[in-house]
Amino acid sequence: MRNLTTSTEEALFCPICSDVYRNPVILSCDHNFCHDCLWTFWKDGQTSACPLCKRRSSKTIPPFDFTLKTECDAVLLARASAAESELTCSTHSEKLGFFCLDDRQLVCGVCTDSGAHAEHQVRLVDEAGQELRAQLHDSLQSLKKKLRLLRRVKGSCDETAAHVKVQAGSALRRIQEEFRRLHRFLDEEEEARLVSLREEEEQKSRLMKEKIAALSRDISALSDIIKTTEEQLKAHNALFLQGYKETAERVRQPPADDPELASGTLIDVYSLYLILKLVKSQTTLINSCSCLFYFLFSWESQINTSL
Ligand SMILES: [Zn+2]
Ligand SMILES: [Zn+2]
Ligand SMILES: [Zn+2]
Ligand SMILES: [Zn+2]
Repeated sequence: MRNLTTSTEEALFCPICSDVYRNPVILSCDHNFCHDCLWTFWKDGQTSACPLCKRRSSKTIPPFDFTLKTECDAVLLARASAAESELTCSTHSEKLGFFCLDDRQLVCGVCTDSGAHAEHQVRLVDEAGQELRAQLHDSLQSLKKKLRLLRRVKGSCDETAAHVKVQAGSALRRIQEEFRRLHRFLDEEEEARLVSLREEEEQKSRLMKEKIAALSRDISALSDIIKTTEEQLKAHNALFLQGYKETAERVRQPPADDPELASGTLIDVYSLYLILKLVKSQTTLINSCSCLFYFLFSWESQINTSL
């Protein structure tokens, strides 16, 4: 292609891509570049300087050079027509001036009258170009519509994902706080129960110790009376009767009353179980409240999301 270019055409070459300007822009230093070439250069170099004289551009979006664009578009159009006229049928060496709609390929005039395409739907190149361009344009529009829909749905998914993250973070903090409270409550209850149990054990052990000591004293005294009385019973009558009054008195009035079986001296395990049961039911209540709370919390969040 370069060999076929004229000097006029070369004057319209972009210094970056060395081809005729496409959508030329002009910088404040009066240098021209293709729009895309300049943007790529600026993006890659992370600069907004002129690629030729290195002067910084005063505008972040340089304006199009419409005069130059008209000239360049004319050259590009002429080039395209020339390229088109160069296309010839490989079988008949004729210009490919037609398009076969059935085979979707360019054909020459001879092809349309005879051979494989004789029965096919054939159009002039310009006519077919216009028709198929319109069809493709319609397909492109529906693709663009689909793209917009996909972007909208993705945007909504992004928002939902972000909301889920916020929800999870908030719920996590609340769960931790609820369980901290629950643990504190259980620790305090455990400590209170243990203190109360230790106090009860001390009190009841002391009472038992006192009672055992009293019983031991009574046992010892009674054993003495029984032993003395038995010895008296073995004595001769005169001796027996001599000490009888005193012995009979001791036997009639023993030093100890009949002992009562200990009651209320054991630790009230049943009451302890009742308290533990109460703690358990309170824990269940706290959990139920937590469940209700989380239900309300997530319900409220769902309402907010749907709004
Ligand atoms: Zn260029
Ligand atoms: Zn410049
Ligand atoms: Zn042909
Ligand atoms: Zn055909």
